[in-house]
Amino acid sequence: MVEKRDLMVIGGGPGGYHAALRAAQLGKQVTLIEQGEIGGACLNEGCIPSKILTHFASEFRKQGHLQKMGMVMGEASIDLAKLKSFREEKIKGLRAGVEGLLRSRGVEVINGTASFLSENRIGIESGHQFSLFEFKQAIVAIGGKMVYPPGISMESPFVLTEREALTMTEIPEGLIVSGHDYVAIEIAAAYAALGSTVTLLMEGRLPFDQSIEREMKRLLKKQKVSVVTEVTIMSVSDDGGVEVDYESSAGTRQVNGTHLVLCGKSEADLSRAGLDRLPLECEGGKIKVDGEGRTSIPGVWAIGDVTPGPGLAIKAIKEGKVAAGAIAGDKGEVDLEWLPAIVQMDPPVACAGWSEEEAENRGYEVVCSEYPFRANGFAGLKEETDGMIKIVSEKGTSLILGIHMIGSGAVELISAGVLGLEMAARAEDFTFPLYPHPSSNEALMEAVEELTGHAVHLQRRRKKAVQ
Ligand SMILES: Cc1cc2nc3c(=O)[nH]c(=O)nc-3n(C[C@H](O)[C@H](O)[C@H](O)COP(=O)(O)OP(=O)(O)OC[C@H]3O[C@@H](n4cnc5c(N)ncnc54)[C@H](O)[C@@H]3O)c2cc1C
Repeated sequence: MVEKRDLMVIGGGPGGYHAALRAAQLGKQVTLIEQGEIGGACLNEGCIPSKILTHFASEFRKQGHLQKMGMVMGEASIDLAKLKSFREEKIKGLRAGVEGLLRSRGVEVINGTASFLSENRIGIESGHQFSLFEFKQAIVAIGGKMVYPPGISMESPFVLTEREALTMTEIPEGLIVSGHDYVAIEIAAAYAALGSTVTLLMEGRLPFDQSIEREMKRLLKKQKVSVVTEVTIMSVSDDGGVEVDYESSAGTRQVNGTHLVLCGKSEADLSRAGLDRLPLECEGGKIKVDGEGRTSIPGVWAIGDVTPGPGLAIKAIKEGKVAAGAIAGDKGEVDLEWLPAIVQMDPPVACAGWSEEEAENRGYEVVCSEYPFRANGFAGLKEETDGMIKIVSEKGTSLILGIHMIGSGAVELISAGVLGLEMAARAEDFTFPLYPHPSSNEALMEAVEELTGHAVHLQRRRKKAVQ
């Protein structure tokens, strides 16, 4: 017997569950199919566990400052078994929260593996049971699969994936992290804070404005992370540890460690839900969609890591809401122009908009300012003075084109930047409002004031009077 459904969402990760909840809010009858755990890679293996690790590491680093202020505590040590139970409890709690929301919105959740049989039929396998469904609309939200550099044995106990690295049971003595984006930087910085000797081998450059890249490298070096960029790994051997031969601009080098962490790239696996049986138009191996998530097959939508663009929950969530809205008759659009880039190292990095170089390449004549967090009073009292904010603006109009930060509070501060970029703010739009005092927000305001050299808290040499 074929059961009929209005809207079926395949995959309960951040993309899928946001789509299901939004569609239900808009009055749709929704069925969500998940073969594993609700929350997907983000909640169970990615964003949440990685942020538990980075938060733990950055709090651990604060001890010296807290003791200096008068907080009396014994010698701190690390209990990774306790961190594990904390992580599991948090993930379980968050997952239960999402499951409760789905229930409260009347979303039907089916535990099973969905497979497309045709353009409007899905089969669901659950244990020994197989059910057949016919849908009016379906949203494909099955995520991606991680792909790792070839020729390295992932079987070795000394070679870990990024997900395994988040749940290590001992702090590794010598950690080599190889990757291409924020995930590798976060893992490297967290374990360095917890006591590992860390070498970070980045495939390309650090993907940020050059001023931020310089400051990141300086701070990572201060935290005893050796950073090598534009690296190609030549070979890895493991025998009670790892030995990595790599090539960079400095030539061929070797680094030894107790463990190697490989951070993969998210690619779509269209064989997963029988999608390769459908005449879907693809782009770079992922499902091609329009600004609202429509695929080339009417009634079939796709969102998240299975579609082109960066593999981020930020994107999956937005795409989920927009596709659900479009199905319910709303107009929406996913525009990734001002997508923030975040690295949860200590201090964190948060950027939105164009780097100085990008803005120039797009034909803008730019004016930039740089404002160090050490000039911000609130950062001073917290002894979190590392880092800076860089503003990129258009000469003449003072249109803000990019906001780049490394410093305490940057991840929260960037939201004001994203809003400003979205509203095509000029410098005055940032400097006119009142800002809470004392706060890190003032650093953002003064960074914009500094475009005209008017940041109040920056010391300047007085010009000598001409006799
Ligand atoms: C270590 C790490 C850290 C990260 N940190 C961040 C971060 O800080 N910020 C950020 O924005 N992003 C982060 N990400 C990326 C983020 O996790 C992904 O971009 C996001 O999870 C993608 O969401 P999705 O809904 O597209 O897919 P997924 O989260 O992968 O969910 C897809 C779901 O579909 C299910 N599924 C697959 N096939 C089927 C089928 N045939 N039938 C039924 N169910 C199926 C899967 O079981 C899964 O639950 C991180 C990733 C990693 C690995």
